[in-house]
Amino acid sequence: MRARLDFSALRHNAARAREWAGGAKFWAVIKANAYGHGQFEAAQALSGLCDGYALLESENAIALRAHGVRAPILLLEGFFCPEEIPALVQHDLTPVIHNAAQLEMLASASASARPAAVYVKLNSGMNRLGFAPENCGAARRRLAELGIREITLMTHFAEADTDLGVAAAMDITRRVAARDFSGLPQSLANSAALIRYPETRGGTRDWARPGILLYGGSPFGVAPSATAEDLRLRPVMTLESRLIATQTLRPGDRLGYGGTFCARRESKVGIVACGYADGYPRHAPTGTPIAVAGVRTQTLGRVSMDMLACDITDIPEAREGAPVTLWGKGEGGQIAADAVAARAGTVSYTLFCAVAPRVPRVIERF
Ligand SMILES: *Cc1c(COP(=O)(O)O)cnc(C)c1O
Repeated sequence: MRARLDFSALRHNAARAREWAGGAKFWAVIKANAYGHGQFEAAQALSGLCDGYALLESENAIALRAHGVRAPILLLEGFFCPEEIPALVQHDLTPVIHNAAQLEMLASASASARPAAVYVKLNSGMNRLGFAPENCGAARRRLAELGIREITLMTHFAEADTDLGVAAAMDITRRVAARDFSGLPQSLANSAALIRYPETRGGTRDWARPGILLYGGSPFGVAPSATAEDLRLRPVMTLESRLIATQTLRPGDRLGYGGTFCARRESKVGIVACGYADGYPRHAPTGTPIAVAGVRTQTLGRVSMDMLACDITDIPEAREGAPVTLWGKGEGGQIAADAVAARAGTVSYTLFCAVAPRVPRVIERF
């Protein structure tokens, strides 16, 4: 089995991000090894198509610099200890400052060893990271005392992909911006907000932060919401394998661990060399979409460690060795990662990130 990567799709999706961003700049979010797609390859493929890269670890950011990345880099959680700060400055990495402990770490660094630019993160209701609205002004003044003047106000939306939307968070953000960050740039929109809420994109000095849309996943999941296809996003990753066995079930025969699938008619079953040890979600139940020999069908029974089963009753060409598409684009069309994820009770983000190291990654198109 293998994960085929089509980086021309990544570039297509980045062009879509550029359209949604209007005049605003955008960070390509490449955290978690570019959502499992490979951070170096993704960064290279996006070179010139985004305005910078956003990720978590300074080690990975420094590795990108060593690979020749000159564009701005944003560290989404900033630094974790004072010892990290000199390297940030040396490699021109912009940290997010989200709590008072980080302000004190900055204060402990010598004046010449402080970054010129930082993001200040406002907690606008997600209650994960960020300063409370009433503490943002003090944080900004503290940064000014420390000689740091290039400040961007940042927040992250908890509900941009739900019916609640961004209105409450935007009210808080606008209030804090007007009171404490007047005239400074902002960075607000993730993929969902960038697509759905134009008011979060900002102007030419502001920066959106799309992630999942770049990889061809919809932040809204599956129909009746806007699917990736509706949004004209193209899948970058295709997870594919082959049938390694076939079985014939008589009515009443059960299949796989726990016998959770029981045949009601005579059925042909294909056994696919792909299981949860490859990153396929174990919670994907009977009925999860899959394609065999280019024909769309469904999984049957429980996913096991190295194998899963699917219905090939009506696919005569599905013999041992037949190609299988778990998600992405196969011969007979697309199996949306979002649709597989929805059946498994999760989101495509987790599918992409979970593809195991044992699965070879093959760059199909750069
Ligand atoms: C992961 C992340 C993003 C990107 O989110 P998507 O939903 O993938 O677009 C943006 N901002 C922050 C702070 C993040 O952690």
